[in-house]
Amino acid sequence: MSDNKPKEGINRFGQKTTTMIPDEAPLARNPGHKLRTSNVIVNRKALAEPEDLLDSRQLSQSSGQKIEFYKEGSQVGVIRLADEEETAVPNQFTGPSYRNKAERFRFDGHKMLHHLDRVLAWQNGERFAPIHIDMGLTKFCNTACIYCYAVVQNMTKGTMIGREALLSYIQDCGKLGVRSIGFIGDGEPTLNPALYDATVLASELGIDTSMATNGLQLDMDRAHDLLKNMSWIRFNLSAGTREGFRRVHQSREENFDLLIEKIRALVQIKKEYGYKCTIGLQMVLIPECFDEVIPEAMLGAELGVDYFVIKHCSDSEYKEIGINYDEYLSVTDVLKKAESLSTPDYVVQAKWNKINAAGESSLYKNGFRKYDVCHGTPFLLQISGNGKIYPCGPFFNKERFYIGDLHEQSFFDIVMGDRYWAVHQDVAASVDVHKDCAIGCRQDYVNKFLWDLKNPPEHVNFI
Ligand code: SF4
Repeated sequence: MSDNKPKEGINRFGQKTTTMIPDEAPLARNPGHKLRTSNVIVNRKALAEPEDLLDSRQLSQSSGQKIEFYKEGSQVGVIRLADEEETAVPNQFTGPSYRNKAERFRFDGHKMLHHLDRVLAWQNGERFAPIHIDMGLTKFCNTACIYCYAVVQNMTKGTMIGREALLSYIQDCGKLGVRSIGFIGDGEPTLNPALYDATVLASELGIDTSMATNGLQLDMDRAHDLLKNMSWIRFNLSAGTREGFRRVHQSREENFDLLIEKIRALVQIKKEYGYKCTIGLQMVLIPECFDEVIPEAMLGAELGVDYFVIKHCSDSEYKEIGINYDEYLSVTDVLKKAESLSTPDYVVQAKWNKINAAGESSLYKNGFRKYDVCHGTPFLLQISGNGKIYPCGPFFNKERFYIGDLHEQSFFDIVMGDRYWAVHQDVAASVDVHKDCAIGCRQDYVNKFLWDLKNPPEHVNFI
């Protein structure tokens, strides 16, 4: 029996109501707006075989639901709850609904629906600029992370795109209407001193920029230029402790302290000056850092960053990094526990779509895709840290797919030229995405979307 006071209210038919349901009664997560009860009304199987008659309590419970009884005087009521054991389905919609939380970032999906003009140009066979470009600024690094994909692609100390080539490429991106550039991929971007001026110039031209960095060489004297002009800065950190940092990033433990101090200082400057730049941490999930997930989730909260995201490790088509994706299944609980540390100001999220691919049928394991053709490269291009252009990161250094060099030709001419489109066409026509490609490449989500568009069902007008 509850000691709740009766509460007066008005129901949706405008009638007066009195309820004793406690305020803290939990709501089912996705119960929908039920006009019908969803109870089984007639169990025809049981009618035919009376010995199979179901317990009435089972009848009142839909699968995936838990029910709790609530007693008030001589009356018993039922509160329906979502089964807490139910696997969380990633929310593919950004907008909040009555009971779905808004998704602040779309880590585990794509945003192609916001760029339908480019999709239309593609459908019409026109030449168009990439929406986004991932671009390396160097081909070398000051750490040697054990999950690094770039090390299988000929890293060479000192190699980087030159300042002049970089700045005129940014100018061309503005002319072409490229919408965003991520200084991501290949080597460490902060080792190229032109990073800061390129960021400022891109901002002046209306191009969004971002960066993924190990942070160790980040020039704090230019911190304002980055925080003022970048949409986001992501620190590649796959450890929450000094010892884990040494193990996974193969760097000195003192460097962990240095990095933490830099992140802390950036968060402080951002808050003080009201900069919009999002600051986050990203872990590349490998067995060697399974025990670092929770410490890093806690570290992120303590540092005051905006998010901590955990992604799968992309292995090469030859599986040179040697990831056994089945091992991911053993840390599901740890990842969920990490996600439970999210607050309204701090998002902790695992990229379940790709991490869970390990648990899917053998058809999708080890690189098999859910589509047969790659159409995504003209929308999301990748450029190597030496200024050479290829359709995608996994194909860096593959001569057949070499498009051009930013030191030799203007990016505008390259994108409007025949070679560029011939290579994208070659990818679509001849690459076997199930065998020739890296596991879960960057264009994967975009490819799924475009494949769906290319292969419509019948009767599309009956939406
Ligand atoms: S599907 Fe293959 S060709 Fe296409 S972007 Fe990914 S790795 Fe490159």
